[in-house]
Amino acid sequence: MISKQRHVLGLSGGKDSSALAIYMRDRVPEMEYFFCDTQKELPETYEYLDTLQAYLGKPITRLNAERGFDHWLEMYGGYLPSSQMRWCTRMLKIKPFEEFVGEDPVFSYIGIRADEDREGYISHKPNITPVYPFKEDGIREADVFELLRVAGVGLPKYYEWRTRSGCYFCFFQRKSEWVGLKDRHPDLFERAKQYEKNDDERNVRFTWSQGESLEELARPERVADIKRKQELAMRKKSTANPGQKLYQIFNETLADEDDSEPCLVCHL
Ligand code: SF4
Repeated sequence: MISKQRHVLGLSGGKDSSALAIYMRDRVPEMEYFFCDTQKELPETYEYLDTLQAYLGKPITRLNAERGFDHWLEMYGGYLPSSQMRWCTRMLKIKPFEEFVGEDPVFSYIGIRADEDREGYISHKPNITPVYPFKEDGIREADVFELLRVAGVGLPKYYEWRTRSGCYFCFFQRKSEWVGLKDRHPDLFERAKQYEKNDDERNVRFTWSQGESLEELARPERVADIKRKQELAMRKKSTANPGQKLYQIFNETLADEDDSEPCLVCHL
């Protein structure tokens, strides 16, 4: 039997993939929405997905229901993932997606915008064809904001202090975002701290943030220093770009702090 062509759209809990779901809802009614749940996402992300699901009028399939981050951490001998060893993306995002798709021919819709010069995860499986509606239709960041506003979905709440979706302990977080996590979700900050450890036998120090442990980052004088730098950078940006919205200034300031290319499959 020949399988029917499927249309799938992966949500990360970020603004672009969410806006794409809104954009595609009536254009491709048979769309299947999915979310690869690491079970370590921010509460704001889970809330946002519920809001989005209500707007879409159909379920967002949660993948990884059985095996989340902790299972794979154990499988990887306690080695925390990092930008050099990104096993979390492979095991918690890419593999579940490929299993979800199986061998069916699918169109996979990706929310990279027309004003971006980056690539998303492109499966090398021959049955998966990537589609970029925002690129094809010239949809830019301002249009994304508008799509979210008009749909009444808005931005995820974590955008007030963090610019990317993904796990609460994601190693792509910038220093000021760690401080944001500490202020907004002290319990999650403590949990993230508990993952860090020194392995004397292998002479390895596992930390989420480069160059310092969360214990060190949380010291009052260090927190004050990070906040001071962030405020100063934001003031400079807003003076240089008087018409910009607070979110844009915040976003650009963080991009200046660290331009490491985040994981697109998690942060789109
Ligand atoms: S959000 Fe970060 S920590 Fe979580 S799976 Fe993606 S890259 Fe890994």
